[in-house]
Order: sequence, then structure tokens, then C-alpha cells
Amino acid sequence: AGGNRIEVFTEDMRVSVHERLAAEARLREALAGHLPWTLPLWFQPVVSTVTGQIIGAEALVRMRTPDGKILSPYHFIGAAEETGMIVPLGQHVLRSAVEHLIYWSGHLGYVSVNVSPRQLAEPDFVPALAGLLAEHPELDPSRLVLEITETAMLASTVDVSERLATIKRLGVRIALDDFGTGYSSLTWLKSVPADVVKLDRSFVAGLAEDQRKSSIISAVLWLARSLGMSTIAEGVEEPADWTALQAAGCPAVQGYFFSPPRPPEEFQEMLINGVCV
Ligand code: C2E
Ligand code: CA
Ligand code: CA
Repeated sequence: AGGNRIEVFTEDMRVSVHERLAAEARLREALAGHLPWTLPLWFQPVVSTVTGQIIGAEALVRMRTPDGKILSPYHFIGAAEETGMIVPLGQHVLRSAVEHLIYWSGHLGYVSVNVSPRQLAEPDFVPALAGLLAEHPELDPSRLVLEITETAMLASTVDVSERLATIKRLGVRIALDDFGTGYSSLTWLKSVPADVVKLDRSFVAGLAEDQRKSSIISAVLWLARSLGMSTIAEGVEEPADWTALQAAGCPAVQGYFFSPPRPPEEFQEMLINGVCV
């Protein structure tokens, strides 16, 4: 939540109607402002379990209110989806992520960006993405990763696997976000041409003391590998979980153990100093 403050959100903290309307108004205002200021991207490192180095980063959007507060996406992504404002918001996020990635080229392998179901279903999504890549011929498109959740497939009226196949033809990589939390994870794995599985943190947190979790992780690692996909474990907070993931052969991890998402200047400092585990 900015500075050293961390806020925890649960399902029962769902925003009230009043707050939703406020979020909508704020979002409209933010989108009309100077986007890098009103809707900044923060970056969380993805770390290799082999080298302990930062290999990539996930871009996570924040909202800066007129009084300078930083809001987590839980306060506005829902409203953005419902109103369709997710489309311009998502375009800004993609563009800004690509610009940061180019700026950090010598130091950072890739950036991943969250793409919401509504955004993906938009007829203009792929042409806009292709346009963005064409503006930056210096960027190898495989350094851009789009994170998609299972709900994208369920909620969508378009053929998501077809759309993702088109995106892959552009050279952009696809990651299955929050893997394991949906109701059709295997269908998802079967029908989507993804490159990376992002194992949800509910399987990861506390895995060192939970035999069932570690069995599931081993199986998913094996399955992903057999399908030619890489795996990232999300939500690694404890040293014991990091050690267990390393031992299980999970290639990469993300979580507070290394770093929370940070503003670009702080992330850059971390990038340049390198991460030692
Ligand atoms: P996500 O894609 O699953 O992103 C991971 C979330 O987990 C982030 O929350 C991150 O700060 C948090 N996290 C990372 N490491 C740990 C850890 O070790 N422990 C715990 N407890 N949490 C950890 P954040 O940044 O608040 O984002 C929340 C969600 O908002 C994201 O979940 C994503 O679904 C959505 N979101 C964020 N940025 C965007 C965006 O640009 N576009 C869209 N469509 N959605 C976004
Ligand atoms: Ca994500
Ligand atoms: Ca996730």
C-alpha cells in the first residue's frame, strides 16, 4: 500500500456500492490524467532457483489518488472490468510495461503483464498488441509475457485458445496465472498453448510443512515439464518454502521472500545491485 505498509484483503472485504462508485469516478479521473503518474506500474521480481538472480518481473498496476495515496488493484480492477475502462487501462499497462522493459534491456529478461478476460475478448486486442510491437522493432516479443487466468476462458464469448494462438504467432509468451485455483485446470492445460504455469500461492505458502501441497507441486512441475512449459511458484514468503521449491526442481519463484512489488525506481535499484539468495 505504499511505503512499508502492506494491506491484506479477503473475500468478505468486498467493496460496498458506495466505494464502487467512488472507485469508478476515481478511475475515470485517473484515465483522463497523466497516466504514468495516476496509474503507475510497480514491479515484482521473478527469481531463478538455480542462480538466485532476477530473471524477469511481473508488472502490477497501482492507482495514485490526487492526495498521493497508492491504491492496490483490488480497489479498481473490478470497476474497470465492469465499466469497460479496463480496455484503455490495459492498453496503458501494456505500453508502459514494454517501455520499462526496453529501458531495462541490459538487466531484465522479461516483463509479464496481467490481461483481464474482458480485455482479451476485445476485437481490437490483438491488432493493438501487434501495433505496439511494431512500434518497438528492437524488442524481442518473447520478452513480453501475458498472464491469463482460467476465468478468461470460462467467461469469454470468443474462442480464447484461438486468440491466444494468434498472440503466440506474434512471438509473445503466455502464462497461466493462478494455476490450480479454477475448476478446469486440466482442460485449461490441454487446450491453451501456454509457455508458463504460475502456480497459485495457495499451493505454495507453507508447502514445506504440508505433504499434500508438496505432492501437488511435484506433480504440476512434472506435468508442466512434460508439456514443454516452465513453472513459476507464486507467493513464496518463507525460507523453508524457497528451499523446498528448489529441492523439488521448481525453476523460478516470486514472492515477498525476495521482494514485494516495488515502484520502478526501487525495482531498478534492486535490478542493478542484483539479488543474492
Ligand atoms: P496476481 O496477478 O495474482 O498478482 C499477484 C498478487 O500477489 C499481487 O497483488 C502481489 O503483490 C501479491 N503477492 C506477491 N507476492 C506475494 C507473497 O509472497 N504473498 C502474498 N500474500 N501476496 C503476494 P496486487 O499487486 O495487489 O495485485 C492483485 C491482483 O490485481 C493481481 O493478482 C491481478 O489479478 C490484478 N492486477 C494487477 N495489475 C493488473 C493489471 O495491470 N491488469 C489487470 N487486468 N489486473 C491486474
Ligand atoms: Ca498475475
Ligand atoms: Ca497470480
